[in-house]
Amino acid sequence: NAPFVIVGGGLAASKTAQTLRDEGYEGDLVVVAGEPHRPYERPPLSKDYLRGDADRSALFTVDEDWYRHNADLRTGVPATGLDTAAHRLALADGSVLEYSKLVLATGSTPRALPVPGGDLRGVHLLRTVEDADLLAAELKGGEGRVAIVGDGWIGMEVAASARQMGRDVTLFGMGAQPLERVLGPEMGLVFAQLHLDKGVDLRRRTEIAKILGEDGRAVGVETAEGERVDADLVLVAVGVAPNAGLAAAGGLELRGRDLGGGVAVDGTLRTSAADVWAAGDIASAPYPHYGRPIRVEHWQTAIDTGVHAAKAALGSGEAFDKLPYFFTDQYDLGMEYLGFVAGPDAYDEVVVSGSIESLEFAVFWTKAGRVLAGMAVNTWDRVGDIEALIRAEEPPGEDALRSFR
Ligand code: FAD
Repeated sequence: NAPFVIVGGGLAASKTAQTLRDEGYEGDLVVVAGEPHRPYERPPLSKDYLRGDADRSALFTVDEDWYRHNADLRTGVPATGLDTAAHRLALADGSVLEYSKLVLATGSTPRALPVPGGDLRGVHLLRTVEDADLLAAELKGGEGRVAIVGDGWIGMEVAASARQMGRDVTLFGMGAQPLERVLGPEMGLVFAQLHLDKGVDLRRRTEIAKILGEDGRAVGVETAEGERVDADLVLVAVGVAPNAGLAAAGGLELRGRDLGGGVAVDGTLRTSAADVWAAGDIASAPYPHYGRPIRVEHWQTAIDTGVHAAKAALGSGEAFDKLPYFFTDQYDLGMEYLGFVAGPDAYDEVVVSGSIESLEFAVFWTKAGRVLAGMAVNTWDRVGDIEALIRAEEPPGEDALRSFR
């Protein structure tokens, strides 16, 4: 019998493997991993690990008992071709693997900045432990200003880490506020203020036109208005693209760019091909509560979809119905967020409970009184309560939201 094969060696792949064994799958299991490591945690790469406050072993906690899965883990060998009709997978080492069932969990890759100078030394992207080691070494070793292009989660977290390491930071974003696309301008402003208070030189509505170099090494950036900002290292953090190339090569249905791209899966996380499921950052799954497909690029979703894809492949038939969740840590702000807001136009009110000034509050994004999403800042273990408000049959009413804490 051909083995069950998982492609990808990240969090979603790991949870798929673990769940297969937990659920009693006893057949052969092969995990094809592009990176030369067993699965590891990425969130610390922009936080404590980057700052040197956590060591490498803290990353390899995704699945400490990996050996129990009795899986053939092939590290450093990406899959390069997929023939779904023949149930065959081609690997970079020239071998071909037959599979009985396949879960794709190939994650995503940071987007490069499409401007001159992107390939200079000292220009960083951040996804892997090697990326983090290189960035950490330059953050520790250098003295000049750090330029961060992109004011999404990774850019903001690295800005916080770089400040905590004593570096001067200029952070560039194109929106009216950082994180605007996810949080809207009201809460984006809270994060802007947090960074301004810590001394970050925050540039809003600013496009970078060029990365400047001397002798092959980045020495700064130039804005579209022609202003030059000197820097001895540049982090490009302008979002990620799903690694959907293998799925595309296999002829699997992909989601359009307007919906965030990725591999289209049905309610059980099955792709358009027989015996192939997808999990983690690449999967664009229908979210029944929001009535649309969403591709979520976050830690908890990699876990939830990994678990779900394994169960689905074993025949559970259950529909995936988790809500998107993510967290961040920046300076002394920690937060948890549950739900989904399609953009700044998708909500009509932002209701705050608690004190923004003291950075202990909860906030809800509502549309016609219904809660679309909630965020708890420095307030813990309230995700279940936020979920109840999001799923409530009747709009909970503003008083209930304002007295949430
Ligand atoms: P990945 O972790 O990307 O793993 C996919 C793996 O598949 C990779 O190792 C890749 O090399 C491999 N692969 C790709 N193509 C192939 C192929 N053809 N063959 C074989 N293998 C292949 N989320 C949060 O919610 N909160 C946070 O605070 C947070 N912080 C983060 C900080 C950083 C620096 C980064 C990079 C991410 C962070 N995330 C955070 C996001 C979270 O880590 C990801 O959503 C999660 O790792 C996704 O898991 P995955 O298994 O889908 O993909």
